[in-house]
Amino acid sequence: MEQIQRLEQEIDHLRKTLQEKENELFEMKRNWMPMESNDTQPEFTTLYSRNESNVGKVQYGDKLPKWAIERYSRQILLPDIGVAGQEKLCKAKVLIVGAGGLGCPAAVYLAGAGVGEIGIIDYDKVDLTNIHRQILHAECDQNKSKAVSAAETLKSINSNIKITPYMLQLDSSNALDIISKYDVILDCTDNVPTRYLLNDACVMNKLPLISGSALKMEGQLTIYGYRSGRNQNEKELYQGGCYRCLFPNPPPAETVGSCSANGVAGPIPGVIGALQSLEAIKLIVGQTRDKLLVERFLIFDGDDVTFRTVKLRSRDPNCPMCSENPKITNLIDYEVFCKSQAKEKDLDLQILPSENRITAFQLKEELGNSSMKQRHLLIDVRNEAEFNMCRIDGAVNYPIEQFRDAKVDEVLKMIDENSKVTFICRRGNDSQIAAKIILDKGNEDHKGKIKDLIGGLHSWSEYIDHDFPVY
Ligand SMILES: [Zn+2]
Repeated sequence: MEQIQRLEQEIDHLRKTLQEKENELFEMKRNWMPMESNDTQPEFTTLYSRNESNVGKVQYGDKLPKWAIERYSRQILLPDIGVAGQEKLCKAKVLIVGAGGLGCPAAVYLAGAGVGEIGIIDYDKVDLTNIHRQILHAECDQNKSKAVSAAETLKSINSNIKITPYMLQLDSSNALDIISKYDVILDCTDNVPTRYLLNDACVMNKLPLISGSALKMEGQLTIYGYRSGRNQNEKELYQGGCYRCLFPNPPPAETVGSCSANGVAGPIPGVIGALQSLEAIKLIVGQTRDKLLVERFLIFDGDDVTFRTVKLRSRDPNCPMCSENPKITNLIDYEVFCKSQAKEKDLDLQILPSENRITAFQLKEELGNSSMKQRHLLIDVRNEAEFNMCRIDGAVNYPIEQFRDAKVDEVLKMIDENSKVTFICRRGNDSQIAAKIILDKGNEDHKGKIKDLIGGLHSWSEYIDHDFPVY
């Protein structure tokens, strides 16, 4: 044990030294390589501006140094990128919000493409369950900040670019400040409050937001808040719709799925994250909006391997955020607005009254006291795949979807045959929803029998059975 601890400390120390040396190397290269000097080069935003006085001042074709031409030659060969596009990429600043399933692949391609500055935000730490899809993190990164782990891997991919990790939860107090340092924002998050926050902050900063999502076997992608005024190749002024134009009201918290609750096949965010980076590259090099996913919504179905593109409504002239006279002029409290939390791990619904809830300790005791006469029924409402993965002995499986169908009478009949009934799920949210459906349909007798396990199987694993898998 002592030897393991000593080795871990030694490795930690070596990692810190390596990081210091890498920073030193980056600063040295920055001083030596012409592309890294911002003094003589126009800012990316200047290059992107339609201000006519800037056009013609930038001499393309003679500014890329040898190393950059060699390094990025495979994409410089493309007519849509070329030397001019590569110069824009080298000066571009992209912020990736979320170093998870979407953010990792997106960051890999942006770093590879030579995007000059990449910021990556994540408040979370690397967990073993992340690694099947979050390709910047390795087993040795467990418990390390995701933002730091991502930044370290990105530096190993491209040491010529600046990578800034932000180990924080993006919120109304810091969003405008951070976002204003970048040219393009990638929404690689997985919760509704952050989607609204990012949308509003991007509209306020007049920045395009490339928004991706992935769940189960399906992925989605679009660009919000596109403004042609930032692209010198666009002939007409045009402003695309924002997230609020499409979704003025947030969905009920309990209807929103998540990768940890519903699962996701690793390649799905891989596909969508890669496409987010492709749209970012196209946006930076100046592709016009007819070639970008502006007011078009891409849906990728991994089940039958189909890509569909749905046309979206144009910008809502009365949108509270992006219209000419917006009603919202400051960032708000998005967790209150969405009635859900931005940190998925803390999601803790309070649906049932306390008399219908039971702790893991109480359940353990009650199960110990149950007998043939006083039978205690456990109804596990997770889906079948989860139930097959791990379950408490004796539990029966009624996935929550069935409660919304016609299974309610069947469950009520089962409850009649038992003295006590406890609803169980992974974290104690779905079980409350299921129990509430039954309580609403049942009689007084049912109300006295029905309980819900607080904190779900996570709590069972933490307090009662440490061998029970946490997933
Ligand atoms: Zn809008």
